[in-house]
Amino acid sequence: RLEAKIDIGSKNAVKLMTAHGSKGLEFENVFIIGLFDGHWGNKRKRTMIKLPNSIYALDDQAIAGRDENDDERRLLFVAMTRAKKQIFMTYPLKNYDGRELLPSMFLSEINSSLIQVRPTDIVLDKTLQFEPSADMGPNIYEKEFIVDLFKSNNLSVTGLNNYLECPWSYFYNNLLRIPRAKDKHAAYGTAVHNALRDLFLAKNRNADYLLEQFERYLIEERLSEADHRESLARGKKALSEYFKKYNTNWGNKVLLEYNIPAVELGDIKITGKIDKIEILDKGNNVNVVDYKTGRAKTRNELMGKTQNATGNERRQLVFYKLLLDNYKNGLYKMKSGEIDFVQPDAKNNFRKEQFFIADEDTKELREVITRMVDEITDLKFWDKHCDNKDCQYCVLRKSIK
Ligand code: SF4
Repeated sequence: RLEAKIDIGSKNAVKLMTAHGSKGLEFENVFIIGLFDGHWGNKRKRTMIKLPNSIYALDDQAIAGRDENDDERRLLFVAMTRAKKQIFMTYPLKNYDGRELLPSMFLSEINSSLIQVRPTDIVLDKTLQFEPSADMGPNIYEKEFIVDLFKSNNLSVTGLNNYLECPWSYFYNNLLRIPRAKDKHAAYGTAVHNALRDLFLAKNRNADYLLEQFERYLIEERLSEADHRESLARGKKALSEYFKKYNTNWGNKVLLEYNIPAVELGDIKITGKIDKIEILDKGNNVNVVDYKTGRAKTRNELMGKTQNATGNERRQLVFYKLLLDNYKNGLYKMKSGEIDFVQPDAKNNFRKEQFFIADEDTKELREVITRMVDEITDLKFWDKHCDNKDCQYCVLRKSIK
């Protein structure tokens, strides 16, 4: 049973990772668990027979200086130095079989004046931890469950676009919210969006501040050292050029990450968060901006007019107009929408495509949403399958049913 919405990418979440994976990252507080002898240090290699030193192509001096624990000691040092404020290092006194355990040798190597020892009385019970609950909750493939879930979830444009691509992808990603690790592109996108938001909130907009904020937010993302390095270089270049190109044109009256929690639309509610709303005049006529951090696309691609193009981007702007038209009695009147690429194209030009959304467009989108509601309520997508080898959802479906 899935009771919680699990958000793997949230910056306020606890991030689970290996010591190797933590390289290059920094956190306020770091917890290193399982620091017992044999796990951290003094690893017993059961399958290896200790060979006499003469077998190695090393002289005696080299062998004497060689400590098999050195690599692990260095790794623990890496993990410890990820903490900006505090490190919590824990070890159990006994294993599950009741055998006493010793603390890792590395703990005794830390300057004792830096350590505060705090015994705990937590007793882990293996059976309690791993036995499945007697109440397994509803069957996620029951019609009633799916319809209830759908009606209690507000529909976002990402959900709608996913549904139009494949209803099962929508079912797993947007309804069940199966946790997925953020890939490096999404992590990069988050850092760029956050940095641009901070830039517009700042009293003095300058490129240095934009880059500093980008660097700060990128560190918070869970990236390998190589991906972090690559994203940092890419972002700094793109953002400094982007700032140079547009900073003299930006107005001051903007709403940032404007959240529209719920707008009723027949049987369901729709929701959205708009990257930037530029207020054009006193009559609250606005231009809506959506940043894109991926490859710069052509206008026809954004409209879904080229082969394999989905038209998701223009649909996103129509969805935002539908939201604004129906929010707070139409307080903000969307005159235009822009897809703003914060990444130059192959010719090193920044693309920004503006669209004017007509009432006809929102009417059409309403019909699409109504159709989606009907299809989900009647589970019309139930028998849909395809041969997409890159998609694992149907495999998952077969394995659960
Ligand atoms: S395999 Fe095809 S039908 Fe199944 S979820 Fe993926 S895209 Fe949809």
